[in-house]
Amino acid sequence: MPRSPTPHPTDGSGLHRRRQLVGLAAALAVAVGSIVIVAVSVGSPGKWDPTQLAQGAAAEKPKMELEAQARAAAAVIEKRKEEIKAENAAIDAVLQTTGIISQAGPGNKEVALTFDDGPSSYTGGILDTLKKYDAKATFFTLGNQISEFPLPLQRAVAEGHVVGNHTWDHQDLTRLAPKDIRGELNDNTDAVTGKNLPAPKLFRPPYGAVNDLVVAEARRAGMLTVMWSLDTNDYKLPGVDVMAAQVLAEVEPGSIILMHDGGGDRTTTSAALPRMLKGLRKAGYKMVTLPQLLLHNPPAAEQNTVGRTPAA
Ligand SMILES: [Zn+2]
Repeated sequence: MPRSPTPHPTDGSGLHRRRQLVGLAAALAVAVGSIVIVAVSVGSPGKWDPTQLAQGAAAEKPKMELEAQARAAAAVIEKRKEEIKAENAAIDAVLQTTGIISQAGPGNKEVALTFDDGPSSYTGGILDTLKKYDAKATFFTLGNQISEFPLPLQRAVAEGHVVGNHTWDHQDLTRLAPKDIRGELNDNTDAVTGKNLPAPKLFRPPYGAVNDLVVAEARRAGMLTVMWSLDTNDYKLPGVDVMAAQVLAEVEPGSIILMHDGGGDRTTTSAALPRMLKGLRKAGYKMVTLPQLLLHNPPAAEQNTVGRTPAA
């Protein structure tokens, strides 16, 4: 049966199709126009440069990382509030009997690793190693390094390490007037608290140079002067094997171990650390922060803190 040619009164398909075509052409024209505009924008210098965007993103990344570490540090400080209070009380108790110590008591098989002269470009790698071996440490920082290396400083606190005071710019305090000693100590503390981190309760004198005045000024600022009982001499670059072996031979419960994460070539320190930590753990030692060490192993009031090798 032939199809009925009966026209549909409402059949407007021919007209509709024409409208569709016109619409498509218009859309195409707009699309082509847009492409041309984009092409012109890309081509014109100074308007939109994808490399600049990439550089911007690269600069944004460390900033975001720093903000994340600072938030993590603040959370850890908040979480450890009661522990920090107990540790500070332990330090204050020591300050009642002496202003200066070089080692803790022998009660528990614990030692304190200390790193001076940072933060620096070496600190991040040292933090990686400490994390790997579940070791905590104390960083005696320099105020003038802090603005340059705020990331490892925040990260150290976020990962449970402690920040101590090593002055603003590493001067021999025994050669300074009282007001200048105070300036060196306060400027460091301000740099640390300026990053929303707890004010240091521990102080290590640059070059290990102390006299009664320096100890008294630190004490007046609420800080205990902490020397060391085991000098790795890492600043002399003794070699990885020698450094690790020396620590393992001389370590004892309550040892305060001196190392450096700034102020020079610290490749030896960084490289010796895994071996040292492996050996210490094998020997049954726990690596804790100085405040924890002083809380767990109260130091003797009378200590030989004179005649230590001056260190960098
Ligand atoms: Zn130093």
